Amino acid sequence: MFRLKLYYHAKPFLPWGFRMAIRRVFAFRKRQRYQATWPIDPSTSLPPSDWSGWPDDKGFAFVLSHDVETQIGYDKIGPLVDLEESLGFRSVVNFIPEGQYRTSDQLIKDLKARGFEVGVHGLHHDGKLYNSLVRFNLRSKKINKYLKDWGATGFRSPLMHHNLNWLHALNIAYDASTFDTDPFEPQPDGVKTIFPFWVPKHPEIGSQRPEVGEQKPEGRPQTSEHRTQESSSTLPPSLDGYVEIPYTLPQDSTLYLLLKEKTNKIWKEKIAWLSQNGGMAFMNVHPDYIDFNENGSPSTYPVSLYKEYLEHVKAAYGGQYWHATPGEVASRFRPGIGVLK
Ligand SMILES: [Zn+2]
Repeated sequence: MFRLKLYYHAKPFLPWGFRMAIRRVFAFRKRQRYQATWPIDPSTSLPPSDWSGWPDDKGFAFVLSHDVETQIGYDKIGPLVDLEESLGFRSVVNFIPEGQYRTSDQLIKDLKARGFEVGVHGLHHDGKLYNSLVRFNLRSKKINKYLKDWGATGFRSPLMHHNLNWLHALNIAYDASTFDTDPFEPQPDGVKTIFPFWVPKHPEIGSQRPEVGEQKPEGRPQTSEHRTQESSSTLPPSLDGYVEIPYTLPQDSTLYLLLKEKTNKIWKEKIAWLSQNGGMAFMNVHPDYIDFNENGSPSTYPVSLYKEYLEHVKAAYGGQYWHATPGEVASRFRPGIGVLK
């Protein structure tokens, strides 16, 4: 944790190209080291014992999300949601409340009117949210205000930092800051499942879930015994816990900026595996890094890689997946049952 803190203090003073060059050296080694568990970790495929399947008897779930990092990304939300809408898809757009840009109420309204969802992406984007519990609790009050003002039910932490126990301070129906496998993240402990799972506020009540501490690997989904006890509560889910929705496809920034992939082959291979195993194909794409004009720059990738991937999903798996926003996944999730059919 100390090294991470030091890095985020120094980060604003280091040029992007320099930071990326250093990260690429480490990423290359990591890719070799983790080739048995990334991009696919076979040990994550087992559904929870009480899993009842996806709505409408679909084989798997297809869920899209976007984190808007800077004004550059904010300005590209229009073409990005137009693209998704034209292909029949909807996503959640996660905004940083007190970052480099200001999120307009009108944009939030427009997105929702078109069937998109809005989420909260940290408070600032400085990598310091989890530095101490005191800081986290202070920031959580402000985050709760934005959740309410924006009518948002979901949270994603900047840089995918996570501590599932602390997150109970947020008034959320779901969190989406974890992943099945992603050794390239600064806090690389995956939750090792390709299914959403319940994080109870009072894990001491019959829980067999390991305690989740700072920087420690998160627990597997709870046992069915525990879930049944939780589900006996008449409280809405948001009051006694939240749903954790791990992303399961490599982030665009990892594939195209860090690893310099030139195709969307990894996304296609991973969704093939996710669909075979009946899991959740949940991806995170940053408008900041998409090149809509095919200009070509080291900090972007061509929109064709994303567009062609969405078209592929539609053509190859049409009728087989349940397409939902993460908020819809969370609103239909019940401990002990999974997603309501
Ligand atoms: Zn971010």
